[in-house]
Amino acid sequence: MARPPNILITGTPGTGKTTTAEQVAAAAGLKHINVGEWVKAKELHCGWDEQHQAFILDEDKVVDALEDALSGGGCVVEHHSCDFFPERWFDLVVVLQADNTVLWERLEKRGYPTAKVQENVQCEIMMVLLEEARDSYREEIVIPLQSDTVEQLEGNVARIARWAEDYRRQHGQ
Ligand code: ADP
Ligand code: MN
Repeated sequence: MARPPNILITGTPGTGKTTTAEQVAAAAGLKHINVGEWVKAKELHCGWDEQHQAFILDEDKVVDALEDALSGGGCVVEHHSCDFFPERWFDLVVVLQADNTVLWERLEKRGYPTAKVQENVQCEIMMVLLEEARDSYREEIVIPLQSDTVEQLEGNVARIARWAEDYRRQHGQ
């Protein structure tokens, strides 16, 4: 029997993944999984990267930890990379994007050191995450969405929730 859909929300840090995923989960009745939070809480890492000020993900551990939830379906997963998840997990892959100056301000406000702000804005300019998503999943399930304003945020949430509803209807759920 078909399972409920899983949605991946990816994008450069600061593009709005957590905000969007929380609202999509509430609107569509899906379970929100913030991979970064799971990594911290369940220690799914192999240490701390001083240079990038971030945990070094143990990708195998992360996939093992998420497998049960994801194979049942009905999850909104958010993470700033997407190439190590099994392709079969996801029915929709959303790549959030933000304007460079908007993103710069958000990351500065978050207290990131300038080098980390710069690195992330550069990553956004190069569209690293969009390319990664397109390399990792079927092109037709990857959709880029702009997330600069609250209006865009609301529009994106409504659109993703509608997609989930359509998916369930089409799969007789
Ligand atoms: P991420 O999880 O991708 O790092 P967040 O969801 O934490 O991003 O968002 C970063 C900051 O930007 C937060 O303060 C959030 O409220 C704000 N934000 C996110 N998306 C939007 C948007 N579309 N319009 C305005 N502010 C936004
Ligand atoms: Mn986040």
